Amino acid sequence: MTLPHSEPLQTTDNIDGVLICRHPEQNRAPVVFDSPHSGQSYPSDFRAALPMEMLRSTEDRFVDELFSAAPLYGATLLHAIFPRSYIDPNRHHLDLDASLLAEPWPEELQPGSKTANGKGLIRSRAMGKSIYDRKLSLAEVEGRVEAYWKPYQETLSALLTRRWEEFGAVWHINCHSWTPPDKGRDGNPVRHLDFCLGDRDGATCDPEFTAFVAETLEGMGYVVRINRPFKGMELIRRNGAPERGRHSLQIEINRHLYLEPEGFGKSGGFAQLKENIERLISVICDRVKPS
Ligand SMILES: [Zn+2]
Repeated sequence: MTLPHSEPLQTTDNIDGVLICRHPEQNRAPVVFDSPHSGQSYPSDFRAALPMEMLRSTEDRFVDELFSAAPLYGATLLHAIFPRSYIDPNRHHLDLDASLLAEPWPEELQPGSKTANGKGLIRSRAMGKSIYDRKLSLAEVEGRVEAYWKPYQETLSALLTRRWEEFGAVWHINCHSWTPPDKGRDGNPVRHLDFCLGDRDGATCDPEFTAFVAETLEGMGYVVRINRPFKGMELIRRNGAPERGRHSLQIEINRHLYLEPEGFGKSGGFAQLKENIERLISVICDRVKPS
């Protein structure tokens, strides 16, 4: 791995206090990383009924930091400042639970399996408890869509289109982390898994690229699976069109690799994982950069 040395290496845009966009200053690659679930800035109008520790359990904590080297290799990194428990950019805007609302939604809702589990556009539950002890007004939810969800979609889409127009193809890496359950539905311990890559069964990314990322991680000693248990959600569904050279791949990282088992701190594994992710970023950018 060769670290670039020239300065400055990146510029940072803060978009309306909602998003951070870190751009490379030079040596651009057709790669955009995004972290929609690592935001920790809780808006004052959230008015959740749960204590902060319970809300914070839903964050993909430090994922933006794990991928922070992206601009050094020519890629852009976009990440949310707001928390996913407030509104989730990785959901369709109609994947919403009508029972959360004080008034009917003006369009026909399309609640999916995530809404059924309390994890729709507006999350209803955290750690098994209801987030709200009240109904949300239409104006409140519409305000979240306009001020948070839409800017996320529009900024990501514009970044991808800009790179695609410049290079003729673009690779979007949608970054997450998850806490595996101790036991699976069958009651047996869940088999050890470090990373799960999702391309919606090849619908959002060239399977050869997905396999390349899996092999790179396996080469670092990690256990990797593709599309099980996570196929990927709205952001790769909206943005991936491999037949047009627009590739979107979801990466899920097992939080046991880098977080303390209890609480929210980094574990001793954080530094090693961050170094390996920097290697992954470097290898991805090298592979897709035109020679
Ligand atoms: Zn996530």
